[in-house]
Amino acid sequence: MLLSKPQDYMYELLATNKTEATRMWKKAIKNEWSGCCAYCGQEGDTIDHIHAQGKGGANSINNMVCCCAECNKDKGQEFVEIWYFQQYFFKEERWEKIEEWRRDYKPAPVKRYIRGKEGIPTRSVIL
Ligand SMILES: [Zn+2]
Repeated sequence: MLLSKPQDYMYELLATNKTEATRMWKKAIKNEWSGCCAYCGQEGDTIDHIHAQGKGGANSINNMVCCCAECNKDKGQEFVEIWYFQQYFFKEERWEKIEEWRRDYKPAPVKRYIRGKEGIPTRSVIL
């Protein structure tokens, strides 16, 4: 069963602790992708943040896909559009499926610090 957050598996009494809930959630995401990497189509055994966490990507279901370890590692913190379009295994159908999956995705706002200098104070802004 695919629920939107790990905690939902606890609310539905399907899991008794957070570790189990997270495991069930990840397994459900993998099932949605038939256990195949969203990018290359090989067997996928990891979960990737489409919009990388290091670039403000959220931990929400529409930002998580099943991914093989090689793609996950190779993609790293790169923007998915840049990374995926450069891959020899890029496929339009797979890209459309990813776009469809993340259609309602809203990136989490990221707080950035702009260092002040010469008497100008440091400020934080939400981007
Ligand atoms: Zn892959």
